[in-house]
Amino acid sequence: MDFDDTPEEAAYREEARAWLDANAERLPPGKKRVGAFERDDLLPQAKAWQAKKADANWACITWPVEYGGRGGSALQSVIFGQEESKHDVPPYMFGIGQGMLGPTIMAHGTDAQKKRYLRPLLRADEVWCQLFSEPAAGSDLAGLRTTAVKDGDEWIVNGQKIWTTGAHYSDFGMVVTRTDPTAPKHAGITYFIVDMKAPGIEIRPITQINGSKDFNEVFFNDVRIPDENRVGAVNDGWRGAITTLMNERASIGSGQGLGFGIQQLLDLARQTEWDGRPAIEDPSVRARIADFYWKLKGLEYTGYRALTSLSRGTTPGPENSIGKMVGAPLRQEMAAFAIELQGMAGATLDADVTWGRGSAQQSWLASPGLRLAGGTDEILHNIVAERVLGLPGEIRVDKDKAFSDIPTGRAR
Ligand SMILES: Cc1cc2nc3c(=O)[nH]c(=O)nc-3n(C[C@H](O)[C@H](O)[C@H](O)COP(=O)(O)OP(=O)(O)OC[C@H]3O[C@@H](n4cnc5c(N)ncnc54)[C@H](O)[C@@H]3O)c2cc1C
Repeated sequence: MDFDDTPEEAAYREEARAWLDANAERLPPGKKRVGAFERDDLLPQAKAWQAKKADANWACITWPVEYGGRGGSALQSVIFGQEESKHDVPPYMFGIGQGMLGPTIMAHGTDAQKKRYLRPLLRADEVWCQLFSEPAAGSDLAGLRTTAVKDGDEWIVNGQKIWTTGAHYSDFGMVVTRTDPTAPKHAGITYFIVDMKAPGIEIRPITQINGSKDFNEVFFNDVRIPDENRVGAVNDGWRGAITTLMNERASIGSGQGLGFGIQQLLDLARQTEWDGRPAIEDPSVRARIADFYWKLKGLEYTGYRALTSLSRGTTPGPENSIGKMVGAPLRQEMAAFAIELQGMAGATLDADVTWGRGSAQQSWLASPGLRLAGGTDEILHNIVAERVLGLPGEIRVDKDKAFSDIPTGRAR
């Protein structure tokens, strides 16, 4: 593991920092950049910032030059992100489109699709969403039931998607559908680009526990998708879905920097009184914080391991799943402890009453979502067990059966 920039990386960091300093204000000490989906109302500012980066060739650093990217390495992208996070710029709301769906179009799309969609996606002139999960297909995505039936040069799509982040402000979506129910579940799936303004698409927001409305239910009622919007071959959509999911894991990474941080927890413990003394002076408080601290340090160094492998030009393997598997529950525990430290005031969401304008409460309410999105805790445990530790694989009895023969307990 090597913690220092190589001379080339240091030069790249300096170039990124100079451009950012010339184009954005530095964040004042103690202030964090607004997170990805914390403020939908900042979408116009987020789009304008993305376009500015694109015009200066700092958007989608890892994308090939032919698609408008910089042709840079994953580590260069990380370096730019580290420097960008020190600046007071709008939230980054395009990770799903640029990190997951763009690479899928590059890998499996037609030349016409690449020409039409990639540049506006990179500039955020057009925003994209991922229409994968369904009420009965999340971890087991291949169990999806939304159907697409061919009708001349079009496909007619019916069904329901759920948890679609950003569907309400997206221009396009990537949707996976069942096109051959007689094939085994992974084999009868087809992948499409869909215009989110097409007739028959109904988007219903889901209000989350913290009051925000980032994601939605999306209903397809006889939605017509032209065949030219198909990504990959008919019934071969699982290949595209895997490309999207691999990129999702890579872009979610360890979740470092998310939620209520250790510095905030220390500040809170110093500023909160317990029995007339700062809470930090209580040995049990100090022990809890120390426990969080060493676990976070472990995660940080595991993250450096991934960075070192990127720096050496190799891709971090499935062991990278450890970051979110350990980090997401840890964030939840830290936020819960911060709420506990606030005593009675911890039980309210009122930003005027709570310490740090309710940041611990918001972090705690958001943390169950972190433990689900991009692979639940249990799925990540399975990945680590099977692909890192080499333990026996999960029993998958429905893998080779025709999808229509898999019992569901309901009438078809
Ligand atoms: C914040 C957030 C944003 C999201 N954004 C999107 C989006 O933009 N587009 C999209 O398509 N989806 C999105 N999702 C959905 C996400 O992909 C799913 O929530 C996730 O795949 C889990 O699926 P599920 O919710 O259906 O849970 P299920 O798969 O039904 O799981 C239910 C429970 O069973 C456990 N479980 C399931 N299978 C196994 C197994 N084999 N072994 C052990 N335990 C198991 C799970 O760990 C979980 O605890 C988002 C979710 C969240 C929370």
